[in-house]
Amino acid sequence: MGGVDRTSPEFRSYVELYDRASLLELGQLADDVRWKLHPEHVVTYIIDRNINYTNVCVADCKFCAFYRRPKHPEGTCCRTRKSAARSTS
Ligand code: SF4
Repeated sequence: MGGVDRTSPEFRSYVELYDRASLLELGQLADDVRWKLHPEHVVTYIIDRNINYTNVCVADCKFCAFYRRPKHPEGTCCRTRKSAARSTS
């Protein structure tokens, strides 16, 4: 985070708030700031795409239901026409 003074009392107060507030409290506070900065009734969002060229992986993350080990019959590799079209739209 360039430009952020992590030693400032303000920064520390935000970290403390993050540590003790519930998710709903944080969401309400974030919404309060959003209304303060942007009182207009327009909300936008960003479409974020992570294009996976392959589902073949050897990391074996325990939570992952996506990956297939090398040579697995459901393993895929390379760009499909569908993913190529989505990445350029
Ligand atoms: S999350 Fe899945 S695909 Fe990603 S590194 Fe872990 S096992 Fe591989």
